[in-house]
Amino acid sequence: MSEKMKAIVKTKRDVGAELVEVDVPKIKPDQVLVKVRATSICGTDVHIYEWNEWAQGRIKNIPQTMGHEFAGEVLEVGSQVTKIKVGDYISAETHIPCMDCIQCLTGQAHICRNLKILGVDCDGCFAEYAAIPEIVAWKNDKAIPPEFASVQEPLGNAVYCTLVEPVTGKHVLIFGDGPTGLFATGVARVGGAGQIYIVGRHPFRLDIAKKMGADVLINDKTDDVEKIIMDATSGVGVDVILDMAGTQRAIDLGFKLVRKGGRYSAFGVASGPVQWDYNNGVVFKGVTIYGINGRLMYDTWFKLANLLRYKKLDISPVVTHKLPLKDFEKGFSLMTTRPKVSGKVVLFP
Ligand SMILES: [Zn+2]
Ligand SMILES: [Zn+2]
Repeated sequence: MSEKMKAIVKTKRDVGAELVEVDVPKIKPDQVLVKVRATSICGTDVHIYEWNEWAQGRIKNIPQTMGHEFAGEVLEVGSQVTKIKVGDYISAETHIPCMDCIQCLTGQAHICRNLKILGVDCDGCFAEYAAIPEIVAWKNDKAIPPEFASVQEPLGNAVYCTLVEPVTGKHVLIFGDGPTGLFATGVARVGGAGQIYIVGRHPFRLDIAKKMGADVLINDKTDDVEKIIMDATSGVGVDVILDMAGTQRAIDLGFKLVRKGGRYSAFGVASGPVQWDYNNGVVFKGVTIYGINGRLMYDTWFKLANLLRYKKLDISPVVTHKLPLKDFEKGFSLMTTRPKVSGKVVLFP
């Protein structure tokens, strides 16, 4: 194996990234070395690429290899690695827990207080090879193609968000037509939802939502969201809100349209503090709110892996673009063009 590899590296505290030659990572005793087969672009990568305010405050190490979603083959294991073997086909939970804090010790490692994130706090996987801590390595079934195995991390967000309580027979309203909203549509469908409504702003993506099993597509720019939902539920409101958007508008509408005693899963991240009708939206309604961050380790992963392995969930409509790694700039522009013309963009080193 050569000592050098190609990687997409954030080389400057500024917009963009570069494809450069860097050393193949040297693994630590608790890490494994992976040959990356496929790696997908996430909204987080776009923030880092665009170097927005969040990225400026969050990214400490420059230069740093970008990326956190991948699937690949293990080439080498560290001396303390016990479960992962050379030749295993893995992806990774991207939240690296400390396994020492109160959260980690009580089954909440996904919100570890010392959490490190792959490609955010350390070198990532937009490269030919990546060093991955064994604790976050997830062994894939070889029947799952790399482009699907690489998107399990965001798919896991959707699985956790949607199935934190059963959706069987329920009215489910999804805000946001980004990849996690589209995945959530498919998950709600296989979870047996009665009716799935999705609110989005991009016809290209609402079209994908249809393929993923949405019953009612609502274009927020042209349709009357409130009227459609209230007519469909005889004025009662929906049982479940999956907020994958986190905008002020989604939050206002979500707490208005959730029925009394319903559930609100909050996954979308707001760009700043928001205001909402707390009394009427939550207290008097008896609404249950779940904050959804990451994926449950590893409850979520077992669920999503089986959905893929046994072909219960077809995510192919969401994976819209496959490009060689060197065309990453095209990938990022596909992710940022408006109106949106992509779902998930997967890169192949
Ligand atoms: Zn991601
Ligand atoms: Zn911890």
